[in-house]
Amino acid sequence: MNREVIIIGSGPAGLTAAIYAARANLNPLVFEGNQPGGQLTITTDVENYPGFPEGILGPELMDLFREQAKRFGAECYFKIVTKVDLSSRPFKVWIGEDEYASDSIIIATGASAKLLGLESESKLMGHGVSACATCDGFFYKDKKVYVVGGGDSAMEEATFLTKFASEVIIVHRRDEFRASKIMQERTLNNPKIKVAWNTTVTEIHGTEETGVTGITLEDTQTGESKEESCDGIFMAIGHNPNSNVFQGQLDTDDVGYIVNQNGSTATSIEGVFACGDVVDHTYRQAVTAAGLGCMAAIDTEKYLEAKT
Ligand code: NAP
Repeated sequence: MNREVIIIGSGPAGLTAAIYAARANLNPLVFEGNQPGGQLTITTDVENYPGFPEGILGPELMDLFREQAKRFGAECYFKIVTKVDLSSRPFKVWIGEDEYASDSIIIATGASAKLLGLESESKLMGHGVSACATCDGFFYKDKKVYVVGGGDSAMEEATFLTKFASEVIIVHRRDEFRASKIMQERTLNNPKIKVAWNTTVTEIHGTEETGVTGITLEDTQTGESKEESCDGIFMAIGHNPNSNVFQGQLDTDDVGYIVNQNGSTATSIEGVFACGDVVDHTYRQAVTAAGLGCMAAIDTEKYLEAKT
C-alpha cells in the first residue's frame, strides 16, 4: 500500500513529526530503528525538557511521545530501514526484503556515539567498554572506571557512574572542558570524580573472558605512557549522524549530517524532509529535535497538499 508519509526514526524529532503528521490525517508509518525512542532512552534524568519542572526519566519521556503519536493514529514499528530509493516516485523504503512505498519521507534517524577507533575498544565493547553509562553503570558497583571526553556527555556519564562506582576518572585530551559551566561545576565538585587532563587512551587491556582490566594512558604534553588498572571505560566523545542508508542520494556535509534547504526541513530531494540530530550538529537537544520534527511534519503536509 502506498503511504502518504513514512517517518524513519523515533527520537524526539521522529515522534514529534508523527504526532503532527497524525493530527494532520496523514496516517504516518513510523519505523523506529535500532534504538526505539532514540538517545534519550539511554539517559537518566532529563531536567531541561520544558513542562517537567521536577525532571523526567528519558525512557519515560519517549514512551509519552510514542503514546501521544499513537493516540492520533500513528503506526509505530520497532523495525530497521535497510535500504531506500529516493530516485523515483513514490519513494521506496525496505525493511530487509519487505518493500514500502510513500509519497513523502521524514528522516529522523538521529546520531550515534563516536568511538576512539582502537581495536581493543571494539573487541571489548560490552565487556567493560561502553558508550552508555545509563545502560551499563549498574555493573560497576564499587569498581574503578574511566570516562573519556570533555563535553556535557562526559560530565553526565561520570556523575551518573558515581552512583555505582567507587572511583571515576575522566580522561580529557585538553586542559579544559568544553562542557557547560553548570555541568562542569557539578562534576568537579563531586568527591568521587578525578580528572586526568591532557591525556588520551591509547590501549585498553583485557579479554572477553576477564573484561577490561586496565588502560594505557598517554600524556599529550610529555608523550609519556603509563598503564592503569580499571574495570570499565565509558566513551563520551560525541556523535556521528545516522545517515549511511541515505548516502549518495541526499546532500550531506563532509561528516554525513543531512543538509537542509533555506532554514526549512526540506532536503535536496523534493518530498524528503529531515529533522533532529541527523541534521543538527549544533544544538542537539531533545527540545530542538522535537521542534524540527514539528517543522518537518508541517513542511510535509504543505508539500503533499500542493501535490494534490
Ligand atoms: P561534544 O560536546 O562534541 O564533546 C565531545 C568531547 O569529546 C570533547 O571534549 C572532545 O574533546 C572529546 N573528543 C572528541 N573526539 C575525541 C577523541 N577522538 N579522543 C578524545 N577525546 C575526544 O559531545 P557531547 O559531550 O556528546 O555533547 C554533544 C551535545 O549534546 C552538546 O551540545 C551538549 O551540550 C549536548 N548535551 C547536553 C546534555 C545536557 O544538557 N544534559 C547532556 C549531554 C550532551 P575537545 O574538547 O578537545 O574537542
